[in-house]
Amino acid sequence: MKAVQLVEAGQDPRVVEIPKPTPGPGEILLKVTAAGWCHSDVFVVENIAAFPHFTLPMTLGHEGVGIVEEVGPGVSDVEIGGAYAVYGPWGCGHCPVCVTGREQYCPNAAARGIMPPGLGSPGCLAEYVIVDNARHLVPIGDLDPVKAVPLTDAGLTPYHAIKRSWPKLTPGATAVVIGVGGLGHLAIQILKMVSPARVVALDVSEEKLALARSLGADAALISSMDNLDAIKEAAGGGAEVVIDFVGAQPTIDLASKLLKPASDLTIVGVGSGVAHVSLLTQPYGASVLAPYWGTREDLYEVVELAKEGRLDVHTEVFSLDDAISGYEKLHAGTVDGRAVVVP
Ligand code: NAD
Ligand code: ZN
Repeated sequence: MKAVQLVEAGQDPRVVEIPKPTPGPGEILLKVTAAGWCHSDVFVVENIAAFPHFTLPMTLGHEGVGIVEEVGPGVSDVEIGGAYAVYGPWGCGHCPVCVTGREQYCPNAAARGIMPPGLGSPGCLAEYVIVDNARHLVPIGDLDPVKAVPLTDAGLTPYHAIKRSWPKLTPGATAVVIGVGGLGHLAIQILKMVSPARVVALDVSEEKLALARSLGADAALISSMDNLDAIKEAAGGGAEVVIDFVGAQPTIDLASKLLKPASDLTIVGVGSGVAHVSLLTQPYGASVLAPYWGTREDLYEVVELAKEGRLDVHTEVFSLDDAISGYEKLHAGTVDGRAVVVP
């Protein structure tokens, strides 16, 4: 089968031919119908030395949906031919954290070598992928695979990040979204859907600001410290919630200037910026969190929103042969929404 692999450190990913896998006990073989490129893939490719537990060559792709083609011994909970989304942040499944669905925070995964598809385990940017357990599949019904696949990370991660701040997203409150890419363009919609808060979007590209406005942002401005006064004014003085989908030093610094007392700063982006937190560095009671991905429950809820037709998922589609063009566009920051690969 064809697969997109990071073959060697320091090189760009490549489309290669590898053997089609066979599901072992408890495993499921999915015929991939769509896989997403995430900016985290760019980060992994460019910083592979930071992941010494990954073995190369590694098939990329932690966003996947597909059709169950075959199951290994002992699997009875999935329907052959059924369409499913892959819940990627696999945990051990049995500890007190995993049984609440928060598998992305499983304390045993690292020690047991349990790694997400495309982030250690063979990923979804391929014709087929092995899913380790039926609980990591969420049925998507007749959702379009191209529109469904970004839900597994670009939808799930902002949903999880926003959920922690629900009590602060009251009438009169402001939420600032920094970075209107794959994750940010869905964050704007989720915020507008789950809360009455005003949404201010920031990006460095005018095209992304236009996208933000078209998706319901109340204001969209260029992200820059030089623009702080205008951003503060658009936010009504400051923000109750700031979600940074870039995580670079300039965005974390800007985000910190927008916080009100008892506000939430949520750093989702994996840029190399650092937030300095102490009693006097930000308004009293502000909470700074860097969450990872989302829970199994969150993915069911995001899929439900999509089934109800309430998410306008923007995608640019690439064939598997042309998958590297999607990676290059993502790298250049010119993708409208999510780059999706259809094998
Ligand atoms: P993307 O490339 O699709 O979007 C990034 C957006 O940020 C683009 O619109 C770009 O124009 C904008 N941008 C770049 N520099 C900016 C700046 N200085 N100010 C404002 N906007 C700026 O990326 P994505 O796939 O949506 O991922 C966003 C980030 O989230 C990445 O860093 C990714 O690695 C990270 N991520 C984290 C998690 C997690 O679990 N925490 C999960 C998925 C992705
Ligand atoms: Zn991702």
